Amino acid sequence: MTGGDTTGRRGRRPAKAANDDLPMMRAGKASGNAAKASKGKAAAGRATFDKKVIALVYDFDGTLSPRPMQEYAFLPQVGVDAAQFWKETNKVAREQEADPLITYMHLLYKKAKEAGVRIDRDDLVKQGRAVELFPGVIEWFDEIGSYVALRSESQGVTVRHYMISSGLTEIIEGTPIYDRFHNVFASEYWFDAYDLPYPKRVITDTGKTQYLFRINKGVEDLGETINQHMPEAERPIPFSNMIYFGDGDTDVPSMAVMRKNGGFAIAVHPPGKSKEKCVNLFKAGRIDFFAAADYRRGSDLFKRTCLLVDRMLADIRVREEFWKVERGLKS
Ligand SMILES: [Mg+2]
Repeated sequence: MTGGDTTGRRGRRPAKAANDDLPMMRAGKASGNAAKASKGKAAAGRATFDKKVIALVYDFDGTLSPRPMQEYAFLPQVGVDAAQFWKETNKVAREQEADPLITYMHLLYKKAKEAGVRIDRDDLVKQGRAVELFPGVIEWFDEIGSYVALRSESQGVTVRHYMISSGLTEIIEGTPIYDRFHNVFASEYWFDAYDLPYPKRVITDTGKTQYLFRINKGVEDLGETINQHMPEAERPIPFSNMIYFGDGDTDVPSMAVMRKNGGFAIAVHPPGKSKEKCVNLFKAGRIDFFAAADYRRGSDLFKRTCLLVDRMLADIRVREEFWKVERGLKS
């Protein structure tokens, strides 16, 4: 894995939570206090400039994959037409004044039950293998890693990839790119709560922004609260080291948070199809760039991403020098 994250973390659980058998709430609190204590120590005796992690954050449906992930296997398996399903979801959500994401998660299993098809967690993970990815997505992570390794003159710059999706954690786990992410934040089911699987975590459009702040503040353990104040200087990944990739209106809150805080946003459109949504986002100042969702080396998307990466690398060098000068004045 060239130029990838070297911490060896994978999946949606941060390393510090992975070996913890405590229930999430207790684990969260315990590790929260430990993190606070160690953070204080790190800030006091920090010998090197440590804001050198670049975070690339992706939406999934329409951004890395052409269609919503449920359309590749779940809906065909229960014999439901995709267009009809989303239409019904929107209709029910409107009529009931329900959250559209909770509605889709509920309807999905209601349809499976009506069809007499049992789909458990393992089945959902298997469905991930059927999900189609845009050209070049598989190679993208290594290509970007090599580019950063080549261009970063400052030692120790690492790239992390994150996913924030309203789709289903279980399906994402089954895709061949799951291991490439430092962390995946997505909606998820409880499989033993009731007769029908019950939404455990629902990531709405605006809810996505919470996870941007989790990445920014380094509070990725979902058992820890994100609302505590943290001065900018203590946040491990400044927004200026982050790029958000999305495909449309559902990404607007995330794009707005990124740009307002000094970060970057790129919108993609299906190759060879309408770019109207992207043009509108661009004109509205929501994004820095847009391009076809072609992730291959040399594509417009690749080149524009690399431009922003170059800017970040320069910015990291400037801030590191500033940090050294400031530190020299103190000693
Ligand atoms: Mg999307």
